[in-house]
Amino acid sequence: MTDLEWCIDYLLKVNNTNRRSIGLGFDIFRGLLNITMPINLSDEFYERQDRVLQDLLKGKNITSDSEFNNGLSVYNGDITLIKVDAIVNACNSQMLGCFVPNHRCVDNAIHSFAGLEVRRDMMDLMNKQGHPEPNGMCKVTKGYNLPAKYIFHTVGPIYSGDKQDEIDLRNCYLSCLREADKMNLKSICFSSISTGVFGYPIIDASKIAIETSYNYLKTENKNIEKIIFDCFSERDYSVYNRQIKEIVR
Ligand code: ADP
Repeated sequence: MTDLEWCIDYLLKVNNTNRRSIGLGFDIFRGLLNITMPINLSDEFYERQDRVLQDLLKGKNITSDSEFNNGLSVYNGDITLIKVDAIVNACNSQMLGCFVPNHRCVDNAIHSFAGLEVRRDMMDLMNKQGHPEPNGMCKVTKGYNLPAKYIFHTVGPIYSGDKQDEIDLRNCYLSCLREADKMNLKSICFSSISTGVFGYPIIDASKIAIETSYNYLKTENKNIEKIIFDCFSERDYSVYNRQIKEIVR
């Protein structure tokens, strides 16, 4: 039996389900990771899960922070395939990752390819905190099976058009930059926080992301060398490139 088959059988039992219909092969596994609360999972499960995820990564093309210049850059690709000191996840206030099997949000991708250790660690942090995460803060876990060393978890605003959205989104960037600086990290890659399911218009959101980061580098920064904005679509990539040219002169 392969590690993948073993993990699928194990997670089907843990979840008391036979929902193989949520996908095929790796997608069944990913869907099962997404619905699992990591309570008392065995060490053997984590070892096998890690081997499955590490094997998968071997076949993929990884982009390294050494390919970027110092300062602000834009990257068009999957945030689970970038080797930086920290990637930034766009979360909801529960902070436990996406529970919808195989959903295409960034939170789902990050938790799925990092492994269930991340949900387990976030569960501990959130239990200690005892209340949902407010917008604009930053919590840290290791990257586990991702190329990135750390994952920063932040909750962006659900777009309403209110002035507070802008303040909250700015705080997401600021909190993560301050945390990276405090941890003496050199490179950080942001997902495009709030611009997917949370509906923040990309032009406004990209301005906030770039202005906040640019000002941070000019005024507060001590340690960060590279700030990378990850755009998942060609459209977002061209918006970010245009905004960077306008803001960073
Ligand atoms: P939010 O709920 O904060 O809006 P979403 O995940 O819906 O978060 O969207 C944030 C952004 O992340 C969107 O631009 C989306 O296209 C992008 N995204 C989704 N998957 C990935 C991924 N694997 N890597 C990088 N960006 C991603």
